[in-house]
Parts: sequence; structure tokens; C-alpha cells
Amino acid sequence: MVVDAHCHLCFKHFRRDVENVVRRAEEAGVERMYDCGVTPETIRRSLEISERFDSVVSTAGLHPPRAPRMPDGVIDETVRLVRENADRLAAVGEIGLDYHYIKDPEERRVMRSVFERFLELAEDLGKPVVIHAREAEKDAFVTLTSYSVVAMFHCYDGPAGLAEAIVEEGHYVSLSTIHCIRGGRDPGTRKLLEKVPLEGMLVETDSPYLSPVKGKRRNEPANVWRIVELVAEVKGMGVEEVADVTSENAVAFYDL
Ligand SMILES: [Zn+2]
Repeated sequence: MVVDAHCHLCFKHFRRDVENVVRRAEEAGVERMYDCGVTPETIRRSLEISERFDSVVSTAGLHPPRAPRMPDGVIDETVRLVRENADRLAAVGEIGLDYHYIKDPEERRVMRSVFERFLELAEDLGKPVVIHAREAEKDAFVTLTSYSVVAMFHCYDGPAGLAEAIVEEGHYVSLSTIHCIRGGRDPGTRKLLEKVPLEGMLVETDSPYLSPVKGKRRNEPANVWRIVELVAEVKGMGVEEVADVTSENAVAFYDL
């Protein structure tokens, strides 16, 4: 059994065949998928999907690179949706900072204020947060320290030393199938996978993105095993052992 700690079944890529995708994951032993809505539309869709399938649990936030260009009304609507559906949401997020896509200082300022607004919301609701931090891991980590929330850094690809510090503070680091594309021979990937402490490690696919299979466009939760296998190989552990520990971590982290 394994858990996919972050995916987007609510995206249009799965509109036609979400049922088959969920079934394939369940047959592959994926006992739970944490599905993430990042706009009012995808949040509503995620809530529909988690209503239909026991193995799917929703989280809801606002995709950081989109935040600076969103009308205030959409941000307010997202906050309202999270509040209204709080008892059906395992976490607030993804939320965070993205310095890869957002370069303009004014846009970065807006992105940060949206991030802080959602951190306050999570604190108020007593929910954990799913962090999207791209080329901004350190800033996101520092920002977090002003809030009493537990966080998971989704699709973590930052410095190995920072991953250790994140876990030391009681947060989680989620490794995605993107590491399978580079593979176990890449020294940076190996170092990161070696260093992330098992007690704070989660695994995810971020489906439909980050397919571990070269040339295959759409990723899906059944592929979460590929990152479990890579972690097991790098850490010299059994595949089942990595699956068990990361599943327990996911259940401990999420509210549902
Ligand atoms: Zn995502």
C-alpha cells in the first residue's frame, strides 16, 4: 500500500476518464490520493471527485504563479470556498511562492500577500498547508515560521540541507516522480534523496505533470511507485518499507 500525497485529478486532463485512472491506482495498491484544487473551478471539481471515490481526498488553495494576475474577486471566492468546505478538506494548498515564473517585484509582492492570507486562513481553520515553492524554498520556509501551521513542501527540488531543516522543524518534504526523470545516477538527485529524513518524507506524482516515463505526456497516481522504488534504491531500503513509512507520514500530516 502506498499514498500519492499530491495530484490533480480535478484538472481537465482527467475529465474524460477519471474513473479509470482512480481504478488503475487502486489496483496498483494506491490506497489514498490527495487531490489538489487550485482555482474555484478545480476546487469544485475536486470536491465532486472526492465525494465519488473513497480513496480520493481533496485539498484546496490557489496556484502561486497565477495569484498575481487573479482578480481580487477570485481570490475572495477561493477563500470562501475553503471556509465553506473546510470539513471536507485535508489541507489548505497548494499555496506559496514561485520565483521561477514570477520575476516582477510588484507581482512577487502580490504573490506573497496572497500566500500570507492563505497561511492565516489555514491557521484559523487549524489545517495543515501544502506548499508550492519553486526557486523560493528558503523564503517560503522563513515565511512559515510566523504561523503555527504544519507544512509539506510539495514536489521538493531545493537544497538537500534545507530539506533536513524543514523536517527538523516538524514539517514534511514531498518527493515527486520528477526525480525519476533524472534518475538515480544524477548526483544532485541522489544527494537529495539520501538526505531527506524518512520521518518527514512523503511521495507524490503531481499528476498530470511530471511523468516518470520518458515521452509519456500524462502522469497518473499509479506511477507513485516509481518514486518509491527510486527512494528505496538510493536509501538501500525495501520498497514496501518506504511505501509504508511515507503512507503513515501522509496520514499523520493530513487532517483527513
Ligand atoms: Zn501540484
